[in-house]
Amino acid sequence: MNEITDKLAPCPFCGWHNIRINPHRVGGYVRTGTRYQTVCSRCKSRGPIKGTEQEAEEAWNNRVK
Ligand SMILES: [Zn+2]
Repeated sequence: MNEITDKLAPCPFCGWHNIRINPHRVGGYVRTGTRYQTVCSRCKSRGPIKGTEQEAEEAWNNRVK
């Protein structure tokens, strides 16, 4: 079980609960300033790109409401 998924609302497009937060790589490299983006593991819908994992979570949840 991954506790991270409990903090994220279900996907607004397909209703899937397994939402991940992935680093958003710029130019294929992970470096200082890496941003984070929520991604539905089923339909691959993506949330807003944010500077921290927490912000990405909040943006996703706000979008779902
Ligand atoms: Zn989905």
